[in-house]
Amino acid sequence: MDYEVLRKRMVEEQLIPRGIKNKKVIDAFYKVERHKFIPEDLRASAYADFPVPILEGQTISQPYIVALMTECLELTGQEKVLEIGTGSGYQAAILAELTKEVYSIERFESLSKNTQEILKGLGYSNIKIKVGDGTLGWPEFAPFDRIIVTAATPKVPLPLTEQLKESGKLVLPLGESFSQVLTVIEKKKDGFESIEICGCVFVPLVGKYGWQDKNA
Ligand code: SAM
Repeated sequence: MDYEVLRKRMVEEQLIPRGIKNKKVIDAFYKVERHKFIPEDLRASAYADFPVPILEGQTISQPYIVALMTECLELTGQEKVLEIGTGSGYQAAILAELTKEVYSIERFESLSKNTQEILKGLGYSNIKIKVGDGTLGWPEFAPFDRIIVTAATPKVPLPLTEQLKESGKLVLPLGESFSQVLTVIEKKKDGFESIEICGCVFVPLVGKYGWQDKNA
């Protein structure tokens, strides 16, 4: 299978026609080898226009959604970014191409271990990963310029807003179990401003400030 051709097609048929414009974001999608983040038996679908299953019943998000969330972060290259939901590591790799420091938290240890091996094998040295409940953020490295949550939550986890810098942005899917709105929240001096981007469907964010385990 010629993954390079499939990757080029993914960018030119799924991302650009739907409005992804940021040149650096587009270049990152041309570059990062998405198939390497996907279990071998499912690699034929690596560049398809839908989410693909990974370990622990989780998913790697549809390429367009990864691109849209990345574009919403408006990275300049200097930001410290926190990702909640490492999953396959693909989003973390895209972020690592676009900024200098990436921190990522995953609740499943087996998934995190596998992903750390993949990212190490690909030579990423600016991504720090830990296992834990990402709804608590990562206080040790806070504050963050940007936070991206790649799992669905009924409400904005309070620790994440506290660990966001002023003028920082938080991108997350907010809503019910099977239907959310991709939302961008900006922290202002005197409060928060929120913009709704589009409807989306993510696996649940399970943790103290997300869904409780019984809803997962
Ligand atoms: N960003 C991922 C990627 O590029 O593959 C997609 C992740 S998948 C849609 C969502 C991930 O969030 C799952 O791996 C899931 O285990 C994780 N997750 C759910 N709740 C979490 C929590 N409280 N803390 C950390 N990770 C969590």
